Amino acid sequence: MFLRLILFLAFTLSPLMTAYCSLGHKGTDKSELDSSSSKIKKNKRRYLIALDPGHGGFDMGATSNQVEEKKLTLHTAVLVRNHLSRMGYRVILTRSRDIFLPLEERTSIANRTKSHLLVSLHYNAFKSPHATGIEVYYYGKGSKWKCINSKRLAEAVLSRMLSHTGAASRGVKCGNFHIVRESNMPAILIEGGFITHPSEREKLKSERYLNHLARGIAEGVDAYFR
Ligand SMILES: [Zn+2]
Repeated sequence: MFLRLILFLAFTLSPLMTAYCSLGHKGTDKSELDSSSSKIKKNKRRYLIALDPGHGGFDMGATSNQVEEKKLTLHTAVLVRNHLSRMGYRVILTRSRDIFLPLEERTSIANRTKSHLLVSLHYNAFKSPHATGIEVYYYGKGSKWKCINSKRLAEAVLSRMLSHTGAASRGVKCGNFHIVRESNMPAILIEGGFITHPSEREKLKSERYLNHLARGIAEGVDAYFR
């Protein structure tokens, strides 16, 4: 009897189920999804993002307990590039090797290539081992258009970085650094954490944490363009 009931229900309900499913999938079959996501990717190809790994060569940047800022910034830049490329953006690095590059050359690369954004990567150090957290700088003077958009980029990037890493926020700040001042496009300088803070330094040594941090930066850039 039970089996009969099951069979009866299966036969009577199956056309309804089919109707429901076809309604549910209306307008979202796989080929349409593929074409809309490839359209979005094509749109993103218009944008060129310049990533600037701070320091390099004889300029080690900050150092603490065998951690060198110049290596950390390059490693982060490569991870951010991977995320952004996967999202569909075009990316250039001001340096992809351990070489010294003057600040003028860094901004000149971003300006020459007409990059849409410039993101400079740094890590912090302080004499007190208690200083911790992420801060993002932009240039608060000069062109109003650049200033407003740099601030918007800084806020988007910081909020995604914090949610991906759980790090403390030191906020978005104005800074008069060459890299954010002399670039023609919206530009930010990220201080991604303190290598002088023992537990933050340990986290920054882990590939997994660095990848979360890089993902946050890439998602912030992506949010900026949306
Ligand atoms: Zn630095």
